[in-house]
Amino acid sequence: MKILAVNAGSSSLKFRLYEMPEEKVLMKGMFERIGYPGSGYSIRIGEEKHQEEVPLKDHGEAVSLLIEELLKYGLIETLDDIKAVGHRIVHGGNKYSKSVPVTPRVVQELEDICDLAPLHNPAHLMGIRAFQEHMPDSLMVVCFDTAFHQTMDEATYLYSVPYEWYTKYDVRKYGFHGLSHHYVTEKMKEELGKEKVNLIICHIGNGASITAVRDSKCIDTSMGFTPNAGIMMGTRSGDIDYSMISYVMKKTGMNIADIDRILNFEAGLEGIAGMNDLRDLDRAFEAKESKAVLAFDMYTTRIMEYIAKYYMKLDGKVDAICFTAGGGENDNIIRREVIHKLKPLGVLLDEEKNDETLVRKGREGVITLPESTIPVYVVATDEELMIARDTYQLVTKE
Ligand code: ADP
Repeated sequence: MKILAVNAGSSSLKFRLYEMPEEKVLMKGMFERIGYPGSGYSIRIGEEKHQEEVPLKDHGEAVSLLIEELLKYGLIETLDDIKAVGHRIVHGGNKYSKSVPVTPRVVQELEDICDLAPLHNPAHLMGIRAFQEHMPDSLMVVCFDTAFHQTMDEATYLYSVPYEWYTKYDVRKYGFHGLSHHYVTEKMKEELGKEKVNLIICHIGNGASITAVRDSKCIDTSMGFTPNAGIMMGTRSGDIDYSMISYVMKKTGMNIADIDRILNFEAGLEGIAGMNDLRDLDRAFEAKESKAVLAFDMYTTRIMEYIAKYYMKLDGKVDAICFTAGGGENDNIIRREVIHKLKPLGVLLDEEKNDETLVRKGREGVITLPESTIPVYVVATDEELMIARDTYQLVTKE
């Protein structure tokens, strides 16, 4: 059965076509700069690659073109061959703790919570509508980045602010990257041969979050009401003392939109070292550039602090610490520094294994010594596969 996994952003649309349940990727690609000059797409079918610049007015045009391409390469004979489309949704608010089929009520509820994710949810809705128009008979499924974190308890997800901010305005910790944290949890269940696993998962991409998992369920996560909470990131500040905001506004004359932009796009590694890509940071760190050394220390210390905090929350019963996403999978230098900082917990790095274990070279697995109190794993995350699995499950249940 063919299932399409879709991730629609405000001006992009990424997709993967799967043969399920074999989990084989038949085609993958991305439409970019939708609605802007210079729009186009790139697709990959096995080793074949196609790339083209074409005007794309909106998501509807991107979807039409995607369908043409699917038919052109003979991956499907008719649109009926695609039984379902799974859509990634950044924010599911308080309502969704798992993936669900799209109904008019679900669409309404997603519209109602657009205020919580003004940059993402409207784009997802555009994507859903575009596919519904072209494929009215296929099942649409929504898979939420917040769903995996819905198992946190009240004491964890509430902020110490007036309680009615929660009851009236839904202000609480939601957590993000849930599809990735969920995928890694499933993978580690297989790897460890246990149904119930206790994990600390470090999703280290440009955006980054750390999650504590007890008995295969999320009990805490570093991102919060928005993705700009928790550890320092590529361009996001992570946790800060909010009082500096009004102070800096007074000092500089900036407004709240300026501050919001800076804390999301000009802070984090970018703010300290003037670079947000971990590859650049590593190079500058190894060349001992002072700002990069400082940013590197701040970054790895904050990751260590969350791991230590979650170790305590898990009563010291941790089956594995996992590193995933672009940085976690490929950045042996960041991993090395974080793991060195975990020495007081008895976590001991195998330097050679760490240097060899790079997902970009097709290698995953353990990077600690056998005598390490907690093993550290490198796991290649796969959010699209998580979407395809959930979608397949729902379509076969219908
Ligand atoms: P996002 O989806 O948040 O953009 P990704 O999971 O794609 O994040 O990860 C992007 C991050 O991964 C970037 O900071 C990038 O530098 C880092 N990264 C990618 N490849 C490597 C590599 N070979 N070595 C070190 N870091 C890498």
